[in-house]
Amino acid sequence: MAEVLVYVDHTGGAVRKPTLELLTLARRLGDPVAVHLGAGAEQAAATLAEYGAVKVLTADAPEFADYLVVPKVDALQAAYQAVSPAAVLIPSSAEGKEIAARLALRIGAGLITDAVDLEAGDEGPVATQSVFAASFTTKSRVTKGTPVITVKPNSAAPEAAPAAGEVEQLSVTFGEKSTGTKVVSRTPRESTGRPELTEAAIVVSGGRGVNGAENFALIENLADALGAAVGASRAAVDAGWYPHTHQVGQTGKTVSPQLYIAAGISGAIQHRAGMQTSKTIVAINKDEEAPIFDLVDYGVVGDLFQVVPQLTEEVKARKG
Ligand code: FAD
Repeated sequence: MAEVLVYVDHTGGAVRKPTLELLTLARRLGDPVAVHLGAGAEQAAATLAEYGAVKVLTADAPEFADYLVVPKVDALQAAYQAVSPAAVLIPSSAEGKEIAARLALRIGAGLITDAVDLEAGDEGPVATQSVFAASFTTKSRVTKGTPVITVKPNSAAPEAAPAAGEVEQLSVTFGEKSTGTKVVSRTPRESTGRPELTEAAIVVSGGRGVNGAENFALIENLADALGAAVGASRAAVDAGWYPHTHQVGQTGKTVSPQLYIAAGISGAIQHRAGMQTSKTIVAINKDEEAPIFDLVDYGVVGDLFQVVPQLTEEVKARKG
């Protein structure tokens, strides 16, 4: 069976969920071979094997942490040369897309970004993309070289399928350009203790109706009662009420939680593009004509300043 390279997104060996989704999709195309760069390979290998990696190629070097993406591209290219895969799959993060573009250029291959689904085709992998704010889906195939494809988080539910996950060292030679841009400092974002937006099982989002940065505390309180992540519409982000890293939608993040609660959000098509595949959608909006109500499983017509605190108290009370 053909092998499919899967680039591993991890923090010190803790594999992030988008990689497990990639492994699940990769199995439709062939045998997944994971590429783990940096520290924590042994820890990561157990998880990668559980989700179907037949092999884990790993390399650790200070270059991966000290310089921007190019050393990782060098390593992924070395893995590509070692394996001759049928496809290379990379998570659709900002870093993932840069790695993918550089790799595709180096190996003379076509690139598809932001796929939301993958299937095996007679002439190679077929990628589904969601375009024009999710109004259309397109299917495309790379016709030149080994397809390099980035896949958006939450495109598939991770399914365990234990495989050997044998760890092999990858030999990497860094090129001159690898050390062209050095990382001079890192400022970790303050931890809120909340789950990462794209990986959360529950997301509570606020929009223009929240009416001010200080009022986002209401959204955060409900999120904390539910163990949820906080999202925001672009209107709320553009107003400076919440950081862009929390924006849900076409120009923000795509989420697909079990439960999505939208408070004071009208439901513009660009917002829907980032949340419409959520399993259960609840909206709180004082305008019963708001388009978000066309999409919801449960709608509350009401003032969020009354409904959200009541909901928070009820959730807390039920949790005891
Ligand atoms: P509004 O549309 O103003 O809606 C506010 C809602 O709050 C209203 O329905 C109102 O009834 C309700 N409300 C007000 N007060 C209360 C209250 N007290 N209680 C309950 N309800 C209340 N948008 C995104 O969200 N994400 C994107 O990624 C994104 N990308 C875009 C990309 C492009 C190219 C463009 C052109 C637009 C994009 N937008 C995006 C913007 C999008 O078109 C909308 O303008 C935006 O989503 C509106 O945000 P909102 O729903 O918070 O605000």
